[in-house]
Amino acid sequence: MGVIEARPKTGKAVVYDAPNQPFQLREFPLRPVKPNEVLVRITMSTICRSDIHSYEGRRPNPCPGVLGHEIIGTIVELGQAITHDMRGDKLAVGDRITWSEYFIHGPNYYTEVLDIPQKSPGVEKYGHMAVADDPHFHGGFAEYCYILPQSWILKLPKDLTDEEATPVNCGVATMISVTESAEIAMGDIVVVQGLGLLGLYGAAIAKARGARMVVAVDTVAQRRELGLKFGVDVAVDPTGLNDVDLGKKVRDLCKPQGADAVIEVTGSPDVIPSGIRMLRVGGRYVLGGVVNPDSFVRFDANLLLRNLITLRGVHNYHPRHLIEALDFVAANRKRFPFHDLVDGKFRLDDVGNAMKQAAERKVLRAAIVP
Ligand SMILES: [Zn+2]
Repeated sequence: MGVIEARPKTGKAVVYDAPNQPFQLREFPLRPVKPNEVLVRITMSTICRSDIHSYEGRRPNPCPGVLGHEIIGTIVELGQAITHDMRGDKLAVGDRITWSEYFIHGPNYYTEVLDIPQKSPGVEKYGHMAVADDPHFHGGFAEYCYILPQSWILKLPKDLTDEEATPVNCGVATMISVTESAEIAMGDIVVVQGLGLLGLYGAAIAKARGARMVVAVDTVAQRRELGLKFGVDVAVDPTGLNDVDLGKKVRDLCKPQGADAVIEVTGSPDVIPSGIRMLRVGGRYVLGGVVNPDSFVRFDANLLLRNLITLRGVHNYHPRHLIEALDFVAANRKRFPFHDLVDGKFRLDDVGNAMKQAAERKVLRAAIVP
């Protein structure tokens, strides 16, 4: 455990006033924690694709705001009602932790009856609030973050690097949720459409769940190459192929009858028609990437009917997926080079540059280290 530091009077946060406006380092007061809150000193936060979408104004986000929801940090102050993490491990000042990217206002019908707390009415996400809102620090691009009531906290194992641990609460947990929805089982053939960070984790998780073969589809040669280190057996370039030809090409690789499951993590609905054609009769198709509204697409619905296809969407994740995500990374960190996925590190006063490089895909996962 490092040196235990007391809560200072103020801390710095990186604020943007409106989409595409420059980031500015500003100081805000730090108040004592309430009984159900935890104050952490952020050790790392990574830039997720959705931070870029928010910053570029493609999804609504309150401004002036502080972005960042893939965050880890060490406990500075622990509310008196918070004694243990979600797995029952005792929490103390100085512990390094991760926590759910969202917090809820419950209990409600979704938490008590449907068991989908992640879609509770009024669910709020870190990095999605106006900086003026109490307690100012609720985004990742800052020195501090308050973990607000009805979040789920998890202590991090000591041997996990910050680079391995930071994407756990968004990228990895989301793909645990997606691959669970796809019902990936021992011996399955899985197709992953899109080899961004989600696709790479998805391929690795599919392998860890027992998939016999993972096929990936991506237009970028470098990503296809990288995929081979994360459980991808065959990487296909879809360039120049129409939906029918691409569907057939991938289906032919998936002996004997086509893929058991296809996962979409490209963010584009255009890949859905070919994806459905890659499946065997009775296969599962899961959408994990098309997060933007108005993602329209046209496909032959008769294929779903005739081939007994299950179609599912996944948004956010259940708190149990956070535990599974952490355990997956901890158990497979020697098998897959997760540490290397965070390939750019930036200081707080360099967030603008980090966002630019992430948006232009010059880095896979940019990290902000306060
Ligand atoms: Zn995210």
